[in-house]
Order: sequence, then structure tokens, then C-alpha cells
Amino acid sequence: MRFPIENPRAEFRHTTEQRIGGWGNRSQQACHVSSAESLEQLRSILKSGETDSYIARGLGRSYGDSATNEGQGVILQSPRNHFLSLDERAGMLECQAGVTFSEIIDHLLPRGWFLPTTPGTRFVTVGGAIAADVHGKNHHRHGSLGNAVQRFRLLTASGETMLCSREQNSELFWATIGGMGLTGIILDACIQLRPVETAYCHVSYRRTANLDKTLELFGQSDSEFEYSVAWIDCLAQREKLGRSVVMLANDATVDQLPWERRPAALELPRRRQLSIPFQLPSSLLNPLSIRAFNGLFYARHGDSERLVDFDTFFYPLDRIHNWNRIYGSRGFVQYQAYFPSSTSRQGLVEMLEKISHSRRASFLAVLKSSGPATAGHLSYLAPGHTLALDFPYRGTVTERLFSELDKILLKHGGRLYLAKDSMTSAATFAEMYPRLDEFKQVKKTVDPGNLFTSSQARRLGIVGPVVPPGPAREGQ
Ligand SMILES: Cc1cc2nc3c(=O)[nH]c(=O)nc-3n(C[C@H](O)[C@H](O)[C@H](O)COP(=O)(O)OP(=O)(O)OC[C@H]3O[C@@H](n4cnc5c(N)ncnc54)[C@H](O)[C@@H]3O)c2cc1C
Repeated sequence: MRFPIENPRAEFRHTTEQRIGGWGNRSQQACHVSSAESLEQLRSILKSGETDSYIARGLGRSYGDSATNEGQGVILQSPRNHFLSLDERAGMLECQAGVTFSEIIDHLLPRGWFLPTTPGTRFVTVGGAIAADVHGKNHHRHGSLGNAVQRFRLLTASGETMLCSREQNSELFWATIGGMGLTGIILDACIQLRPVETAYCHVSYRRTANLDKTLELFGQSDSEFEYSVAWIDCLAQREKLGRSVVMLANDATVDQLPWERRPAALELPRRRQLSIPFQLPSSLLNPLSIRAFNGLFYARHGDSERLVDFDTFFYPLDRIHNWNRIYGSRGFVQYQAYFPSSTSRQGLVEMLEKISHSRRASFLAVLKSSGPATAGHLSYLAPGHTLALDFPYRGTVTERLFSELDKILLKHGGRLYLAKDSMTSAATFAEMYPRLDEFKQVKKTVDPGNLFTSSQARRLGIVGPVVPPGPAREGQ
């Protein structure tokens, strides 16, 4: 079936110089920004020679410098936002890479199809999600998005488009999944969706006394529940270290809904959108206010069961537009750490101890258990656990803390998530990603002149000369 949805925001814009950053708002970089609707326009931008290199940009929800390219070209993908086809029986969706998860939900959830996996915001593009090989609360069961991607077309540095799948150009397929836009521009993709009966989850909230109890609960429940996630109080110490509110959930069936909701089982409730209109003073977030918030959150969530709509369960922060402004003008950074199963308990204890003593983290941390890895060269997750925390950016104090966290991660064989990283060094990154050389080899074959480059790729030494991380880049 053809399934055309034209979107009015499609337009062609000529290059302008703009200062853009990542979701963390830590630093803005001057980039030559253009956008293109058609393949011909994309090719002509790449051939124009206006800048030496380019990087694709979706909705800029990566936290750091993955979708910026200082002094160089950035190509916005959001105008390429057409749905191409939907096989309604099989749930196979083909769409351009600028289509957002939010648009997929709006158009396809009422037809009984939902995303195979989803990050904690619906404001990401299909291209950005594939490039980061995003994961969700069901990683322990279904892995990351790469598992559901059937194929995509990639515009490469030579101007050629290549069809990539597990069978065709498979090396390039796996280098692009998790490859952060460095192999080329994903034009469109075919993704297997997941059938759902309702727009609700049946959630069981369980409070745990400490990290051991949290991990024990994950271990006992992971086979029974489609989704699991723990909100950890990262300021709790000693015997309370790692105390959490664990949410375990399955998709709700129609029978589980109250009678009055059944006729509109696939409709999400409408809610008023809140907004942070400007940057708030950074002093609002201090150890005292954070401790009070965390204490309240833990106390409010006793053991209970509830029906929760998908927006509330998967995207609690999306309700507040520009919530990233609560961190003030200096912005914030996220540390997302993965520990393999064999070391995760010890690694998490050391990391949580370091963080709780530093009194720097903000609000609650999120802990998830993770399942089998995809074959992506730079894909992030494998069996174990992943912990994510936001920190208000405080210059060298934050940089010192992050480098100490990096040491803990390396000691336990862990790694950082590229979509969240903004500060790590090339040497640390290389140690964390053992398949980096394989990735570089594929890149060399398909993009020998490094036409596709980002600020992050230069900082991490994936391409070109290594740019040292840290204060030197601050304020740029
Ligand atoms: C509130 C919040 C919660 C989040 N929760 C999660 C989570 O639970 N799990 C998770 O995995 N991630 C999570 N993320 C991170 C987010 O899913 C990723 O950063 C995602 O890549 C953002 O998509 P985007 O379209 O905004 O891409 P951008 O941030 O614009 O770009 C990200 C990368 O994708 C590349 N890219 C974009 N479009 C294309 C294209 N067409 N072709 C090739 N490369 C392209 C860019 O070059 C860049 O390297 C979260 C982010 C936020 C803000």
C-alpha cells in the first residue's frame, strides 16, 4: 500500500552560518547549515565544495557534538519527512530518514503499530535513531533498533546511493547502524514495527532498598516483563546506595483497560504541553533541591500497579518543551555508562559511590538492563547494565569528575554511549570500542576523503587530526 503523508515543513534552504549545539546546550559551534528535500539537492550540497566536510543532523537530540561540525557543513534532514509505504499486515514501514518517531506514533499507533524500540523522547528522526542504534526500555528482550531495521538507502561520499541490508552491502549496513552519520546520509529506511492492542502499558512499580536489590529484581523479572527501568536515587549513600523505584511493564491488552477506555484503546490521552520559556538560573539545581526531589520521588512511589499511557511511560520529559533549559546558560552533560554483566555490580557500586560523594549529579539516574548486542561496529549495548545521569555543566569540576568516571568504566570493561558523549578523549574512546579499527576500515573504503565528519568524530580521533577535549573548546 502507498501511504503518502506530505508534511508542510518540507523546504529547501540555502546554506547559512549558524551557531548550533547538542541537546545539552553546553556549547554552540558555528556551522554552515543547509537543508535539502530531494536527493538532487543533497548531492548538489555535497558537491558544492562550500566546505570540506558535512554531517547529517536530525532533530539535534544527541547531547553533545555528534550532529555539529565546527566551521564545516551540517545538513538538516527534517525536510525529508515523507512516509513511503506501509505493509499493514506485516507492520513493515518504509519512510524517509527525516520522519520522526513522533510522526510514526501519531499516524500508525491508531492503526495498531508501535515502534520496535524507542528512546526516552519521541522527538528523534529515523535517520538519527539508526545512526545512534538507539535502545529503549526493552533492550533486555529485543536489543537495539538495528535489529528491526530491514534495509536503508545510503548516500555515500561518491554521490552514489547504496542499498544496505543484512544481505547486501552488509559491512556498510552494520557500520552505519551506530555509525553516527560518518558513513554517509541515510535517505530512507524500512523498519519492522511492533503490533499493539492499546496505547497503554500495565506497569508494576517496586521500590528497592539498594543496588543489590535492584539488580536482583531485574534478574528475576526480565524474562517476564517487556520493559524494565529503574530510577535510582544517585545521592543515596552507604546501605541505601542504589535505592530505586523499578518500573516493570508489559503492553496492556484491550481486556485490561477499563470499559470506558476500550472504544479508544489505541488513542493517547491529550495533555496540556508545558514549556520552559527561557534558560533558568543554574543555582536552582543544587544538592539540596536535588536531594529533596529524589527523596520525594522515592517516598511517593510505593509498590503499586497501574495502567499508564505510552506518552507517560516512554516519554515523561517530552511533556515539558525545552526542559533542557532548566540547567541554565552553561548547559548540562550526560554520562551514560554501560557495564558488561560480569563486572556490572562492582562497576556500578564504584560509580554510584563516586557520584553520590561528588554531590554533582542531578535528579534521578536511570538504570536499565541490556541484552544481546547488534552487529553494529560502534553499537553501544551488549548484555549487562546501562546507567545514565545528567550533570549541570560546571567547567573543570565536571570534566575532572567525568575523567574519573571514565577510569572506573575502563577498569570494568565498560563504554560510553556516543549519542550522549560530549567530553571523552580519543584514547579513552578507542579503549572502549574494540571494533573501532574495523569501522575505520569500512569508512576508508566508502569515504576515503572524510567527506562525512562531525566535531565529535574529530574529537574522538575517528577522522582527521585529534582535537583535545576539555576547556579549550568551552564557549565555542
Ligand atoms: C530526552 C532524551 C532521552 C533520550 N533517551 C534515549 C534512550 O533512552 N535511548 C537512546 O538510545 N537514546 C536516547 N536519547 C538519544 C537520542 O535517541 C539520540 O541522540 C538520537 O540519535 C537523536 O536523534 P536525532 O534525530 O535528534 O539525531 P541528531 O541528534 O540530530 O543526530 C545524531 C546522530 O545521527 C546522525 N544522523 C542524523 N540523521 C542522519 C541521517 N539521515 N543519516 C545519517 N546519519 C544521521 C547525526 O550525524 C548524528 O551523528 C535521548 C535523547 C533525549 C534528548
